Amino acid sequence: SAEIIDGKHIAQEMREQLKDRIKQLKEVTPGLAVILIGDNQASKTYVSMKQKACENLGIYSKLIKLPDTVTESALLDIIQQLNNDQTIHGILVQLPLPDHIGETAVIEAIDPSKDVDGFHPINIGRLQAGGEAFYPCTPNGIMKMLEFHHIDPKGKHAVVVGRSNIVGKPMGQLLLNESATVTYCHSKTSDLKTYTKQADIIIAAVGIRNLITADHIKDGAVVIDVGMNRDDNGKLCGDVDFEQCRQKASAITPVPGGVGPMTITMLLFNTVESAERFSR
Ligand code: NAD
Repeated sequence: SAEIIDGKHIAQEMREQLKDRIKQLKEVTPGLAVILIGDNQASKTYVSMKQKACENLGIYSKLIKLPDTVTESALLDIIQQLNNDQTIHGILVQLPLPDHIGETAVIEAIDPSKDVDGFHPINIGRLQAGGEAFYPCTPNGIMKMLEFHHIDPKGKHAVVVGRSNIVGKPMGQLLLNESATVTYCHSKTSDLKTYTKQADIIIAAVGIRNLITADHIKDGAVVIDVGMNRDDNGKLCGDVDFEQCRQKASAITPVPGGVGPMTITMLLFNTVESAERFSR
């Protein structure tokens, strides 16, 4: 049965390393500004988790709470101020935004050198072209998990299920950059199994509970589960039927305790990296 990829443990190790890097920065304290708009409960939870994680590491976090009536231009002004604020090295606008605010305009207003989510087109382009950039946290965290377990994507067939801008697409690009052969599957893919069964590495980033069963994977596959769903009892679960797939896979991430803990860690990682770049 499969080796369990323990995201909590890897995240903890990475956070210890970040503590050392923060110490080395001496007179500079890494600063993260988080903009939270409106009253979305999930957003509030994510933001408070991010703030707590900053606090634990000694990263300064500045929370800017705005009512969902805030205008787009007022929001853009605030982002502009943060772009010019020398105590801030990372700016994050918690999504989703209210309908009257354009997501593209907001993302593009963030200085790419402070875009620690890696959503700005400049960072997306640099991810594709190669070069110094911020990579989106969830897929970058998955790359760190693979590295930790000495799973080298080179020459492997990686099948990414899901093609969102925040997970699926950058995931495929990061794997390609490490010389995997990448296949993307999505909601319009006919006969998902045909593809997933060929995967040496499968990344499930969909949001459908038990979408990936033992029938979808080949013996010895590495199975990474990004999904965050609720089962009938309200318990957190992923896109993968974990109990079935762990019998067949060579390595697998659980939910919870897999990809999730890595995502926030990579946000801290990007913020520290940004502070290092600014202090050079
Ligand atoms: P999304 O809704 O933006 O994208 C879902 C993708 O799944 C789409 O590209 C769609 O084409 C594809 N899809 C839908 N139905 C499909 C099907 N039947 N077969 C194959 N593909 C199908 O979601 P997202 O933001 O990419 O997130 C995906 C999942 O990962 C969600 O459950 C989300 O909660 C979770 N997530 C977890 C973390 C984490 O840190 N653990 C971070 C981000 C997202």
